Amino acid sequence: MKVFITNLEKHAGKFVPYSVNIPLASLGIQVPGNEEGIMHVNIQASYLGDQVLIRGDWHVDLQDVCSRCLEQTVCRLEEQFTEEFARLDDPVSVDLHEKEGSWEQNDFVYSGEVLDLTEYLRQSFLMSQPFKVLCREDCRGLCPVCGVDQNYEECRCQEENIDPRLRVLEEYKNKKQ
Ligand SMILES: [Zn+2]
Ligand SMILES: [Zn+2]
Repeated sequence: MKVFITNLEKHAGKFVPYSVNIPLASLGIQVPGNEEGIMHVNIQASYLGDQVLIRGDWHVDLQDVCSRCLEQTVCRLEEQFTEEFARLDDPVSVDLHEKEGSWEQNDFVYSGEVLDLTEYLRQSFLMSQPFKVLCREDCRGLCPVCGVDQNYEECRCQEENIDPRLRVLEEYKNKKQ
């Protein structure tokens, strides 16, 4: 995703909106089962002299599997951000900067007439991976004993799972009667 500085300069001090849909593949990201995945990006960029302020958000809908019930589900990843990109006119120091791998907050740079957000968005996506994919917050998952999907069916495993010693006692009582 490229933002052209000359265009921002014309509207210096104001926010210029950009909307793009970026295939994950073109960000160098591969998510199994989501080869056609798209990142939807909405930003506003403002030229402030020697730096560019960018604020906005992105979201990606990924096909995934619920970690509790194993059903196919859509998992939305999203992020909001506000970032300042400083102008660095010496291309050599831009190279050094990138080699050191120091993509930290408040540490973004651009040089020349193009501000390329590709690496920024790639990093942002990689850091937003969900801890756990769920089809819904209160998914009841599969019964660990019989494998029934407890969102749809009640199984009797909990009831039947009584202490075997109690069961012997129960049978003994039944015999006596
Ligand atoms: Zn589920
Ligand atoms: Zn069960």
